[in-house]
Amino acid sequence: MVTVSCMAAVVDFFDKKFVRKVSRTKESKNLNELKNGPNLNHGPTLVIHGGAGTMRRKDYPPEKRREYFQSLEESLIAGYKILLDGGSSIDAVEAAVRIMEDCPLFNAGKGSVFTIGGKNELESSIMIGTPLHPAGASTLLHTVKNPITLAKTILLDPECRYVFLGGSEAEKYAKDKELEIVDPGYFWTEHRWRQHLEGLEKQKPASSDFLNTLPSKDELDANPKGTVGAVAVDKYGIIASATSTGGLNNKKDGRIGDTPLIGCGTWADNETCGVSGTGNGEFFIRFGIVQDVATRMKYLGENVVDAAVNVVEDMKKVGGEAGVIAVDKYGNFAMPYNSLGMYRGYIRVAEGIPHTFIFDDELNLISD
Ligand code: ASP
Repeated sequence: MVTVSCMAAVVDFFDKKFVRKVSRTKESKNLNELKNGPNLNHGPTLVIHGGAGTMRRKDYPPEKRREYFQSLEESLIAGYKILLDGGSSIDAVEAAVRIMEDCPLFNAGKGSVFTIGGKNELESSIMIGTPLHPAGASTLLHTVKNPITLAKTILLDPECRYVFLGGSEAEKYAKDKELEIVDPGYFWTEHRWRQHLEGLEKQKPASSDFLNTLPSKDELDANPKGTVGAVAVDKYGIIASATSTGGLNNKKDGRIGDTPLIGCGTWADNETCGVSGTGNGEFFIRFGIVQDVATRMKYLGENVVDAAVNVVEDMKKVGGEAGVIAVDKYGNFAMPYNSLGMYRGYIRVAEGIPHTFIFDDELNLISD
């Protein structure tokens, strides 16, 4: 474990050196110096996101920013307390995600968006980075209050031989396991219902050339901005990642996105990194984005920052709006995104201070 004064240097490094306009080469050099230097292990670290999207600065007056910062901080503190007590990374990411699932600001749990048919269909996944890659995932949920806890229950259940459960049988399983079940109306919120109605008006028929068509401004505006995720490394060097969402605003009923798909929305591998993603789910699925971050580290020898930044930049080239958070076993992390903003934050046990951000002048690993 590094000392608090070392931590101050590390945090200073993240806060000051990773501010926009720093070239990627310089970021990597600094990171490598840190990794090879005396501050090798930053200790237990938790990084979270609350979704990437086309949020515009003018739509975020200070009061609204504060609301988001408070919720992100609450989420960070919930996970931090677990890590501070020597708890596991899987408990920490579950706790952090649950807070955001219970908060109507985020597109997960209580604040989930609606399908085109006017329903909420929730999904989640969770993974531990130990060699056998334990994982759990759930989708098409209407009544499970905290989808991330269902994913974790599946992962930890010695009698469940499966990774991924969906629909009514997943809900029955959740009930049998005595997880909290709610009436589907619990997920209704006025602002999401309004987004649903506005989205219906803007809806366009799908283009036959959709692979080559960049999303229109209207389509980007209809993006949900609020899928949630957390990645942590605990004092044992074990990494866990978790992601939960209501999906895309006005998605087709029955559409399953990247979030519950292992390797697409969530990945964890102690030897490389843990990752959670947010953005256009179809891109995450087609490109296997989050696992790609770990694969770059494994086969190209990239550090966690370069790997995450490269993957997100590659997505930009093909028109995919994407953000990821990634943490390695030493507590190095990256939070790059190619959209206008991403709700995000981090906390290190050695420091105990939550840091939260929305826009790129606050903290951004991509130089533009
Ligand atoms: N990736 C999610 C989905 O496509 C949405 C998001 O992250 O904002 O379902």
